[in-house]
Amino acid sequence: MKAYITIDQERCKSCGLCIEFCPKDAIVISDKLNLKGYFVAEFKEKPQAECTGCATCAIVCPDVAIEVYKS
Ligand code: SF4
Ligand code: SF4
Repeated sequence: MKAYITIDQERCKSCGLCIEFCPKDAIVISDKLNLKGYFVAEFKEKPQAECTGCATCAIVCPDVAIEVYKS
């Protein structure tokens, strides 16, 4: 089963919690700024297949910016 996440860039406040708690190290802080001036979190392209869809990132995100998809 493949899984991936999307991150709503305008909700992200760059707190880093999703990165800290992702067991697959699948999220990074990017060099893209959102309209509020935060560097937004981004799903890593390369280890995409390793995302298990555990949804830990979505649960810990205080700004409800992450959605998890499984296929
Ligand atoms: S769903 Fe789980 S494995 Fe996938 S990015 Fe989020 S915390 Fe990491
Ligand atoms: S937990 Fe949410 S607000 Fe914090 S860096 Fe991740 S996506 Fe952004």
